[in-house]
Amino acid sequence: MKLDVNVLRYLSKDEFRVLTAVEMGMKNHEIVPAELIDRIAGLKTGGAYKNIRTLLRHKLVHHDSTKYDGYRLTNLGYDFLAIKTMVNRGLIVGVGRQIGVGKESDIFEVVAEDGQTLALKLHRLGRTSFRAVKSKRDYLKHRSSFNWLYLSRLAALKEFAFMKALHEHGFPTPKAVDWNRHCVLMTLVPGYPLVQVKELKNPALVFDTVISLIVRLAEHGLIHCDFNEFNLLIDDDEKVTMIDFPQMVSISHRNAESYFDRDVDCIYKFFLKRFNYVPGGNARTLQGIDNNVDEDDTRPDFENLARTAGALDKELAASGFTHQNQEDLDQ
Ligand code: ADP
Ligand code: MG
Repeated sequence: MKLDVNVLRYLSKDEFRVLTAVEMGMKNHEIVPAELIDRIAGLKTGGAYKNIRTLLRHKLVHHDSTKYDGYRLTNLGYDFLAIKTMVNRGLIVGVGRQIGVGKESDIFEVVAEDGQTLALKLHRLGRTSFRAVKSKRDYLKHRSSFNWLYLSRLAALKEFAFMKALHEHGFPTPKAVDWNRHCVLMTLVPGYPLVQVKELKNPALVFDTVISLIVRLAEHGLIHCDFNEFNLLIDDDEKVTMIDFPQMVSISHRNAESYFDRDVDCIYKFFLKRFNYVPGGNARTLQGIDNNVDEDDTRPDFENLARTAGALDKELAASGFTHQNQEDLDQ
C-alpha cells in the first residue's frame, strides 16, 4: 500500500472539512449523498462539490451510485484524517516507509517532532468483508456500512489500552504513545520478528524468556491469543519484545485454556522446528511433544495459573475499552 502524505500538505482547510463531513455522514449512511456532505460541512465559501472533486482525485473518497448517488470514505481517506489529527497534536511530522503488513493492519515508520522514529499501526478490520460489499450488496444491504470504520477503531482502542497497561506493568512491549480512529502510535522496536531469525546464540534463554512472558501474562489475568514467532521481535542482544494485542482475552474467557495451550504450543513447536530446541534437552519429535505434554514438567500449567491470576483483565475493562466494545469485536 502506498501512503503518499504529501497530499496532506496540499489539502486546503475546506477540503479537510469536507472529508470530515463525509466521515460524519457515514455514521448513519453507507453512502453519503452530496447534499448531506454539503450541509454537514457548512462551508462559508459556497458548496462542497468542488472540494469533493479534489478528494475524489486523491482517492480519499469514492463515488458510488449503485443504490443512490453519494460518496464514502476510502481507507486512504480515513488514514489521512487520523494522520492529520496526529500531526495537529504535535506527535508526528512525517510518514516514512511501510515496515509491516498484516492481514488486518499496515505498519509505517513515522517521524516525531523531535526527530525520533516511531511506528504507526493502521488497523484494517473488516477489510475483506468491506470488499465483499461490492459483490454481495443485496445480501449485505442491512448490515451497518460503517462497520469497518467502527471495528478498526475498536481494535486500535483495545490495542492502545492493552499496550499501555502491559508496558506500565513492566512487560516488554512498545511504549504506546497515542491513538486516534484506527491508528496506534507507538515506539519503534529495534529488532526483527523471530520468524526471520535462523539461529540464536542462546535458544534456551530466549525460550525461557518467551514462555515466562506467557506465564506472566496469565498471572496478570490475560492471554495473548496470537503469541507466535510473528509477534515476537528480537534484537541483536536477543532481547525480546512482544507486539500485537487486539485479540487478547481475559483468563476467565470460556476458551481461555485452549488459547493458552495454543500460545504455548506455538512456541514449543517453533523452537523445535527452527532451532531444534526442546526444554530439558532430549530431542523429541513434534509428535512426541504432543504425546508427552503431561510428562513435560517444565510446561506451564493453565489450571494453576488460572486459580491465582491477578486482575489486569478487570482493570482493563475500566480503561475506556468497554465490555460492549469487546462483544462487538467478537461478533
Ligand atoms: P498484525 O496485527 O497485522 O499482525 P503487528 O502488530 O503484528 O500487526 O505488526 C506487523 C509487523 O509490523 C510485525 O511483524 C513487525 O514486523 C512490524 N511491527 C509492528 N509493530 C512494530 C514496532 N512497534 N516496531 C517495529 N516493528 C513493528
Ligand atoms: Mg502480528
